[in-house]
Amino acid sequence: MWRTRGHDAAIELLKSSLSQDRVSHAYLITGPDHVGKSTLARELALALNCATWQGEPQGSLFGAVEPAPQAEPGPCYECSACRKALAGAYPDLLLVEQWTTEGSRIIDQIRSIQYASGLLPYEGRRKVYVLLQAHDLTLPAQNALLKTLEEPAPTVCLILAATTTQALLPTVVSRCQQIQLRAPSAEVIARALEDLRGLEASEADSLAKLSAGRIGWALDAASDGTLLKNRQAALEFLTQALGASTSRRFQIAEQLASVATGSPEEVDEVLELWLTWLRDVLLVVAGLHNRVVTADQLQAIEAVAGHVDSRTILAAIQAVQTARWQVQSSINTRMALEVLMLRLPTLGNDFQKAASTPPAVPASG
Ligand SMILES: [Zn+2]
Repeated sequence: MWRTRGHDAAIELLKSSLSQDRVSHAYLITGPDHVGKSTLARELALALNCATWQGEPQGSLFGAVEPAPQAEPGPCYECSACRKALAGAYPDLLLVEQWTTEGSRIIDQIRSIQYASGLLPYEGRRKVYVLLQAHDLTLPAQNALLKTLEEPAPTVCLILAATTTQALLPTVVSRCQQIQLRAPSAEVIARALEDLRGLEASEADSLAKLSAGRIGWALDAASDGTLLKNRQAALEFLTQALGASTSRRFQIAEQLASVATGSPEEVDEVLELWLTWLRDVLLVVAGLHNRVVTADQLQAIEAVAGHVDSRTILAAIQAVQTARWQVQSSINTRMALEVLMLRLPTLGNDFQKAASTPPAVPASG
């Protein structure tokens, strides 16, 4: 039973490939952060060796296959293969969630994958490699990976997930079957929150709207209240910074670096949220109130929009975009935040009063 929500077309495609035994040797799942790439990659990995829909594998590689007790291909989460894989103890599944920043070690990792993928599976039908954050692979690592992609053993399936194909070699992209995930609608996310997290309909609706299409974030926030609190704190830091003096801004940079435990991924998420909020201000300045994404902030955004012009907000957007780029390029996070604080336009006292309008925050699940 697939738990991925909001990506029905992708699931149908995979189910049909699995049932016809026409699985690609490599998939590349792309889409924005928290859209569900990693969940889909893991589910496909389980499905490939799940015994519930395809029976236990026979001793011989090409031996007769037992009649499947269940018709629909997918992960069951219950058979011994699925349970072992979930516990990280399935010998034919390797999951890489994060790549080291040391270039030479990445190459070693890729080479060991290349070597192991040439061996027959120990228990399952396929050797499966789930490589998340593939956009972080260095060019030499991608070149090393190409060897596995170009001459794959028939029993190998590589599942790559990346936010964008732009960081990948065109030859890597072209060797994979690409599955592009788009942000699901708020309705789809709300139903998933009800089904998978047991939220009441009204609670699910508000959280779905807050998530702005990031279904993974919404599901996490439903079970972890600190995510909503952090989101609110991150937005307060931005409005404070826009109205603050330089010395106060440096304090904010320091607090932000510590709130987000300083990890580039978490700081990047904060900056992404800031960008969304600033774009919303721009939309309201342009009179497009109904297109605001951070709808829970509408009151504060409208108040702010009355005190700024679009040129100032564009300057702020540009400063945040530059900081994001710096954080993503592994430049010292704290330094990137400090430079951002120097570049952000100062919006003065009127702005600060306007921005302190308390936003409506829905209760977390
Ligand atoms: Zn299973």
